[in-house]
Amino acid sequence: MEMLLRLKNIGYSYHSLKGEIPALKDVSFDVHNGEFLAIVGPSGCGKSTLLSIIARLINPESGTIFVENPDGLIHYPKIGYMLQHDHLFEWRNIFQNVSLGLELKHQLTPTNIAYVNQLLASYGLDEFKEKKPSELSGGMRQRAALIRTLAIKPDILLLDEPFSALDYQTRLSVSSDICNIIRKTGKTAILITHDLSEAISIADRIVVLSKRPGTVKCIIPIQLTVTEKTPMESRNAVEFRDYFNLLWKELES
Ligand code: ADP
Ligand code: MG
Repeated sequence: MEMLLRLKNIGYSYHSLKGEIPALKDVSFDVHNGEFLAIVGPSGCGKSTLLSIIARLINPESGTIFVENPDGLIHYPKIGYMLQHDHLFEWRNIFQNVSLGLELKHQLTPTNIAYVNQLLASYGLDEFKEKKPSELSGGMRQRAALIRTLAIKPDILLLDEPFSALDYQTRLSVSSDICNIIRKTGKTAILITHDLSEAISIADRIVVLSKRPGTVKCIIPIQLTVTEKTPMESRNAVEFRDYFNLLWKELES
């Protein structure tokens, strides 16, 4: 697979009155074009910090990120960021919420409005355009948050534990729903999760981070015997349990 990003020896520390807190150390891995990459690791090991660095919200203290674009142009990939909370604004209806990113960038052109409407229609939110976020279920809100992210046509989607605020039952169906949508778009995605089953069921590869300061323990390619690569199908694959045990062991050691 073609490379999109190459992280090399990324390091980062937070500085506070109590002193220095090393969050990441020597983190290196590649992100391939079109893949679904999951990052797992103990809580507080620097996962969110790493996403913020990839999103260029913060600069790494050491190390570099190389960019390789398929079109040969040198520009940093456009980032779409999805967080644990959907951050939909109650005073705006669903259409106004999903088009917020475009509005902020002064890109609410007729073409882009048509694109947003097409996304809403494709992903079953057409009838909810005029509704307020509180009138939607948790799953539909998460869909709206995804559409808002897709509306800016990102090259990479960064997902920081986007399902962890949902109860288990809802989480299974929403994570499956959202991931199927992302797969269909063919976009490169990086998902942070502390749920090992979720990572195995969704990802092409899993990066396992050690406890703080986070460093790469191993990278596990996931190959499941399934007829269709959907999260629900993946959970039934014969290899699922072996991957679970392998990840568990890596995190424990
Ligand atoms: P994760 O997402 O894996 O739970 P984070 O990247 O959020 O971890 O944080 C990594 C470590 O850095 C944690 O131990 C956390 O306490 C610390 N940290 C995060 N943000 C700050 C901050 N703004 N100031 C000081 N320490 C921080
Ligand atoms: Mg985090």
